[in-house]
Amino acid sequence: MNHNLFEMFAERMRDRGEADFIVTRQGQRYSYAEALASSGRLAGALIALGVTPGDRIAVQVDKSPETILLYLACLQMGGVYLPLNTGYTAEEIGYFLGDAEPALFICRPEDIEAARRIAMQSDCPNVATLGTQANGSLMELASIVEPQPAIEPRSSDDLAAILYTSGTTGRSKGAMLTHGNLYSNANALVESWRFSASDRLIHALPIFHTHGLFVACNVVLLSGASLLFLPRFDVDAIIDELPHATTFMGVPTFYTRLLQDERLTPELTRNMRLFTSGSAPLTAETHQSFEQRTGHAILERYGMTETNMNTSNPYEGARIAGTVGLPLPGVEVRVTDRETRETLAQGDIGILEVRGPNVFIGYWRMPEKTREELGDDGFFITGDLAMIDEHGYVHIVGRDKDLVISGGYNVYPKEVEQVIDEMEEVVESAVVGVPHPDFGEGVIAVVVARPGEAVDEASVLQSLEGRLARYKQPKRVFFADSLPRNTMGKVQKNQLRQRYRDLYT
Ligand code: ATP
Ligand code: MG
Repeated sequence: MNHNLFEMFAERMRDRGEADFIVTRQGQRYSYAEALASSGRLAGALIALGVTPGDRIAVQVDKSPETILLYLACLQMGGVYLPLNTGYTAEEIGYFLGDAEPALFICRPEDIEAARRIAMQSDCPNVATLGTQANGSLMELASIVEPQPAIEPRSSDDLAAILYTSGTTGRSKGAMLTHGNLYSNANALVESWRFSASDRLIHALPIFHTHGLFVACNVVLLSGASLLFLPRFDVDAIIDELPHATTFMGVPTFYTRLLQDERLTPELTRNMRLFTSGSAPLTAETHQSFEQRTGHAILERYGMTETNMNTSNPYEGARIAGTVGLPLPGVEVRVTDRETRETLAQGDIGILEVRGPNVFIGYWRMPEKTREELGDDGFFITGDLAMIDEHGYVHIVGRDKDLVISGGYNVYPKEVEQVIDEMEEVVESAVVGVPHPDFGEGVIAVVVARPGEAVDEASVLQSLEGRLARYKQPKRVFFADSLPRNTMGKVQKNQLRQRYRDLYT
């Protein structure tokens, strides 16, 4: 049997025929039958460009329906899809091409000169372009080559994609994902979230990241649903489309921005059956406000580039604010001691480890790092700190790298942030540790105040008195207009630590 993920998608695509696969607000439309045919043509173009099964295809292009078709074509012909953040500079791309050694680099039409130069420097033999108007050299080639009807035989252990991690805690690492990893996770999500051919998903996420690419697109392809494809997150567009959609996937910042719009009402979201959130922590406050405003309890789930999705709040049953729910079918989780690696008792905080068919096979060309994080017993050390409650729900407490150890005591930033955020005058906060001569690390807080509110360091510190043990209380509080975030809405705590690193030294 061919375990190529595309084989499973193709079956659906044939069944769904003329039904919508992707539609845009500009009137572009691909039925499933058209997507299947286009994939064959693009696969033909990739082969004509010298790509052979197992080769990496690096892609840095703006979001368009054709990018999804390119991803499909790549699967179909046995290539390894390697999407790159659209924000990376030429220099950064140079690093990734050198690391990944792709057989082909596909760039935006306007970047072709720089791309050729970088490709030459990093021995990448071929460059092609793809624009957002179904234009570029790749599409031109696809229109004249012999379409490729065959689906390259793949085993479930063969590589389907390499995705670089977001780089929140250091340099991005290439996670090697197999056909089996992607298929098992898409299946688990379709089942858990009850996706079917009658669903229409509003897609406003970037497609170089696991959330917008695999969670959103693989789930739609496997269930035969359709994508309402937006080039980016835009409140007006989403408000317009909510009455015509059934599902929405967002990062927490999407929800906080929607909540600022008074058009968000139960009436507007009446046709919707599911809102999901992930990639960064959704605060209990956002979860509750959204439910009050729309009647929908956001379903929060937890995953990472290396593992796809691990846990999810239930579709039926309690969606508990501030938790990431229960392990998905086939996924095992455990919490271990940071130092001894021993499994901890239920309720204790430690490192979250996961095992299952969703877990990647290692970091691209980083055998050492792979050995450190992927144990012999198959458990992957996520680097996230978590606690499992008495009902089996996983609570993410923060990242191990963000844990502050002050005077020998562990300070979990989230706990401190939650108390600060309860202040009326505060929008949000971030707590980090900076080098301190006496304590090892000193706790500091960076606070975003509500515009026009009178709040200062003393009043924040005062509000924590008696609510948090002394060692957890920040020694200093700084104010900022906003917290540094990346495209997935993740707070860049590295940058904050950098900004204040010389405070005590
Ligand atoms: P890097 O590994 O390069 O430092 P990254 O970990 O941010 O970057 P991703 O793979 O995009 O890269 O993100 C996975 C991480 O996102 C998880 O390890 C976790 O810290 C965080 N995350 C994802 N979903 C949630 C969630 N629902 N709640 C809290 N954190 C989440
Ligand atoms: Mg990570």
